[in-house]
Order: sequence, then C-alpha cells, then structure tokens
Amino acid sequence: MINVLFSAKPERWFFYKDALKSSFQKAGLEVDLRCEFEDPASVDYLVFAPNGPVSDFTPFTGAKAVLNLWAGVENLTGNPTLNIPLARMVDTGLTEGMREYVCGHVLRHHLGMDTYIQAKPLDWRQSVPPLARNRTVGILGLGALGQDCARSLAALNFNVLGWSRRPKDIDGITSFSGSAGLKALLSEAEILVLLLPHTPQTEKIVNAEALALLPKGAVIINPGRGALIDDNALLSALSNGQVAHATLDVFWVEPLPSDHPYWAHPNVTITPHIASETRADTASEIIADNIKRGEAGQEFLFLVDRTAGY
Ligand code: NDP
Repeated sequence: MINVLFSAKPERWFFYKDALKSSFQKAGLEVDLRCEFEDPASVDYLVFAPNGPVSDFTPFTGAKAVLNLWAGVENLTGNPTLNIPLARMVDTGLTEGMREYVCGHVLRHHLGMDTYIQAKPLDWRQSVPPLARNRTVGILGLGALGQDCARSLAALNFNVLGWSRRPKDIDGITSFSGSAGLKALLSEAEILVLLLPHTPQTEKIVNAEALALLPKGAVIINPGRGALIDDNALLSALSNGQVAHATLDVFWVEPLPSDHPYWAHPNVTITPHIASETRADTASEIIADNIKRGEAGQEFLFLVDRTAGY
C-alpha cells in the first residue's frame, strides 16, 4: 500500500478526492489517500498546494517526493525543510486554460475590441485592424505554458518571438535567450506576454529599462507572476503612453489591495488570478503517473531544478 497525503486547502479535497482515487486505480496503484496520517513518517508521497496544513516537511522522513499541484513553485524552492524531489505541475487542462486566456487577451488588443465595447454611438470611421501576420507578440518564458501559447498565436499567424533561459528551436517562433536576446525581443514586441516563473533572476525583469525598449503604445499581458513587474515603472509607462494597456492577472500581493493604483487606472485590466488553473481530472493522471514512476525507480516527471529556482 502506498500512503499519499493530500495537503492543500480543505476545499480542494472535494475536487481532487475522487479524481485522484480513480487515476490511482486506472494506473494500477494501491493507494491509501488521506488528508492526515497519524504517523507522518509513513507517508510515501505528498500531493501538495500552498496554504494547506503542511509547511514543515521534516516529519515526513519516509517521503519519496512532493508532487505540487501548481505550476509555480516559488513558495517551495526556498523551503529549507524540503530535501526530497519536488515535481511541479504540467497539466493539459492548465495549459489549455492558459492558451485560451492568452489568445483571448492578445486578440482583444490586436483587434482593438475595447473601442467598440465602450463607444456607443461610435464614430463611423472604418479603421480595419491589421492582420495578425503584421502584429508582433513577444512571449517571455517558453516553457510548458509559454511554448503552447506561442504555437497557438503562431497558428493564428501572429509574428511570435519568444525568450527563454536556454536557447530553443521551435518551428514558426523566433526564439531568443540571454540579455541581448531579451532586448531584441522587447524592441519589437507590440504585445508582450509574461509567462516566466518568479525567481531571483526574473524578479522585476519588466522594469523601467525594459519598458522603455518596447515599441511606443505596446500592450502587456501578465498571467505569469506579479513580481515579474516593477509596478511603479509600469504605472509611469502607462501614464506617459509608452504602454497603452496592461492586462494583469497576478500581483505582488493577492488579492490586490483595494488602494493599489492599478484599480483606478483606466488602462489596466485586472483579472483575479484566473488565467488558468490545474484541472483535477487531468492533473490526477499526471500525479498517478509520477507515483508509478517513483515506485518503479524511474525519474519523476517535471522535477524542479532548485538551483535554477523553477
Ligand atoms: P516552465 O518551467 O515550463 O517554463 C518556464 C520558462 O521560463 C522556461 O522557458 C524557462 O527557460 C524560462 N525562464 C526561467 N527563468 C528564466 C530566466 N532567468 N531567463 C530566461 N528565461 C527563463 O513553467 P510553465 O510554463 O509551466 O509556467 C510558467 C509560469 O506561469 C509559472 O511559473 C507560474 O508563475 C505561471 N502560472 C500562472 C497561472 C495563472 O493562473 N496566472 C497558472 C499557472 C502558471 P528554459 O526553457 O530555458 O528552462
């Protein structure tokens, strides 16, 4: 019997309990899945999300891995009590949701939809939006999510540029890495999408210097992490028109405090960290697969590289 501890906010149990049980069964795993074990040393795996009961991993002396329910791991990488393998979540449902959010918001800005949503009666000037092939979208982060969004936008014919730590060769995407590559991407990105993890290297990567490189009137879409952006620099770029609009899903502090200047800014769209979410049915299959691998002595999927921070 494999003991699996589900450590997340209690309301998550309702969504995950049956999905996990059914995936374990399908994978042929005999699992005792619980929210609590009397003896923490008997736990083999932790299915984990922040803000649950566990933050100190020391008592789980027999655990083989922590399987994070979320893609972001910035809350765990610095935890000194976590010394066993940590896997992050790469889930088809999560990826699909992000694709829809990013493509939706890119198309909104590309097509200038706000003009027609807000203006009635409107000025009957027929100003046709350019074709996607004449619009450049830059994506910072070409991982599971960034790469999928890049491919989807390229399939719509956008001119897609991407930036990652290690160079990439992706069909239909012009890929950059390094600081010169970042500058090259920024100088062309009319719409900039942030899908980087929050690490010491990526914190405030969108600062005054980066914003000044963008073509005037660029749009920023941030479903990555709030800490990627220097908020003061973005607010001044919004005020002087260097940035025409920012669509922000994630923030330094969440929920976004009610006195934050973003709330009052007419050119900021705020969504409450809903760009996407791990979906219980598809994610449970990933977790079952990873436990199966662990039991067979194989390497876990989607292991976090603690030195890189993601
Ligand atoms: P991945 O780990 O798969 O991809 C991360 C990407 O960022 C990789 O391309 C990586 O480069 C690149 N990267 C990391 N550090 C650097 C750096 N210093 N310089 C340049 N590139 C860097 O993550 P995912 O795509 O799965 O997720 C991305 C982020 O999206 C998550 O960390 C999370 O913060 C956010 N997210 C937000 C959600 C929401 O609802 N708002 C939902 C889910 C995730 P390389 O390819 O070379 O490794």
